[in-house]
Amino acid sequence: MRLEFSDNLPIDDYRHKGMRRKLIDSLSEKGIKDTRILEAMELLPRHFFVDKAFEEIAYDDKPFPIGSEQTISQPFTVAYQTQLLHIQPREKILEIGTGSGYQAAILAMLDARVFSIERHEPLFKKSKKILANLGLHNVRCRLGDGWKGLPEFAPFDKIIVTAGAETVPESLKSQLKIGGTLVVPVGSPSQKMYKIERLSANKFSSQELHQFKFVPMLKGVVKG
Ligand code: SAH
Repeated sequence: MRLEFSDNLPIDDYRHKGMRRKLIDSLSEKGIKDTRILEAMELLPRHFFVDKAFEEIAYDDKPFPIGSEQTISQPFTVAYQTQLLHIQPREKILEIGTGSGYQAAILAMLDARVFSIERHEPLFKKSKKILANLGLHNVRCRLGDGWKGLPEFAPFDKIIVTAGAETVPESLKSQLKIGGTLVVPVGSPSQKMYKIERLSANKFSSQELHQFKFVPMLKGVVKG
């Protein structure tokens, strides 16, 4: 697990590191036990992914605005969804909703091969840049509609949706490997987290988990 910071990133000093340490302790108290995830979150500066105005509170366990009326997920949510995926090195992962790029960075730091789709062009451009500036070359960003998935790179070992879907996206189920896992928040206006596993070509198991609140998973692409 390694990050190379390019010169055009903000400063990451002992204060930020101290705030991250506290955040990691609180995540661990809230039930996140996977040490690789906690390590990745302790290394990755979350304040790089939010506006300068949020720098002092970037390590609160809260979502923050990132533009285009979207938010960076709460750290607990990132850790929770990532923990459900049980990422193994080299696995091919599809993320729907790149947003700030923070969740994609965590997946990349776990040595997965990450594909991430965002429907808002300004967010797509910004997150692509920051992931490159962190030296995370194992993430490929795409501007597109996540309801369609990414058939040209399917099947995936794991798929994570970071926006609230009204129904389980069938196209994403069909892009899972047999034995693969889809983690998706389903419902409106709040969502239940679902963990869906592909048991065979047409057989899936589904587990309904905790309640969350995500921005909605919408259709189409927004240019700008
Ligand atoms: N994983 C992000 C969370 C961002 S919020 C992070 O770590 O910051 C969810 C994101 O999903 C938003 O940026 C939103 O624009 C995007 N989104 C919603 N519906 C989508 C769709 N159909 N395809 C791709 N992205 C979508």
